[in-house]
Amino acid sequence: MADWFALLKEAEGLLRVNDEQALDYYLQIVENQEELRAYSCWRIGEIYNRLGDPMSSFQYHRTAFELDPQLTKYYLKEDHPAYGYSYSEPKEIHVTNCPLCGETGSPYACVNATTMLDFIPGFHPVRLWMCCDSCHHLFACNYPENLSELLSNSQFDFNLDPRTARFPGICQTLKQIQYLAPGDRLLEVGVGAGEFAAVAKEMLFDVNGLDIRLPYANAVSNMLNIPVHTCDFQDFETSENFDIIIMGDVIEHILDPIQALRKAHSLLNEKGVLWISTPNFESAYSMVRKDADPMWRVVEHLNYFSFISLSKWLNRLGFEVVDYQVSSSYNGSMEVIAIKKPDEAA
Ligand SMILES: [Zn+2]
Repeated sequence: MADWFALLKEAEGLLRVNDEQALDYYLQIVENQEELRAYSCWRIGEIYNRLGDPMSSFQYHRTAFELDPQLTKYYLKEDHPAYGYSYSEPKEIHVTNCPLCGETGSPYACVNATTMLDFIPGFHPVRLWMCCDSCHHLFACNYPENLSELLSNSQFDFNLDPRTARFPGICQTLKQIQYLAPGDRLLEVGVGAGEFAAVAKEMLFDVNGLDIRLPYANAVSNMLNIPVHTCDFQDFETSENFDIIIMGDVIEHILDPIQALRKAHSLLNEKGVLWISTPNFESAYSMVRKDADPMWRVVEHLNYFSFISLSKWLNRLGFEVVDYQVSSSYNGSMEVIAIKKPDEAA
């Protein structure tokens, strides 16, 4: 009788070194050894993703959780927040067409999101990413029906703790913005822990904030004594305009990012500055790290731009892209500055 545990050990040693051979071993184990089946299906899911077969990856990843809802106990440490997670299939919305241009997309990548510290039970642990060939954009194929409820009810304490090491980098960004902007009235969409708003206040900008999560909004408002509204950006109503809008790590969370960019355009004064930081799925970091780039596993993210898709859409919406930086705060994120073009004469 074959020693399936020995074969499993051998397969583990081949991961990433010789994925094809490892795949062959895991497939044999799935056929023959019930006890190791769920675990092996998860490994096969990972391998198929690396081999560029996202649909097979998707099938095996899902089968793994169906076979053993407590799958995470095999690959997470006991102190990981998702260690005790038990899978049940959430009610989901399935997206087949690009949220930017409406064209159909094709499967691009598939990952298991439970390995991340900010996994939110209620999201499906298996995420399929689709690619729109027409505008070179990635979008999540599946997300929970009760998305906004899950997001407004979840918060992570580590997000409430400002990372002061970011301050000098933010200062450099704001100096550049200051030079370009027609004034100092600034709106930050998604204040998070408040680092950007804090440095902006230090540099004497007129700072206003907005965050969908009430605890974040209150914490930053109290900390800095600035107005922070709690609402969805789309629902934000004001009679005032801004010279600067900051959207740091926001548009990847939004179901319809084009609407959000359009909203930013409508709130900006002429020649106003829009600063965006968002993961670039074609960043140097992502090209080097491949499936080990944590970007793939953030369940809250619904959209990933490339520099191509972001600049194309900013242009279309009436902005001129004037700067590109590799983010010093987040691996694989891009920082783009765009200026609102004067309204074209009717
Ligand atoms: Zn598209």
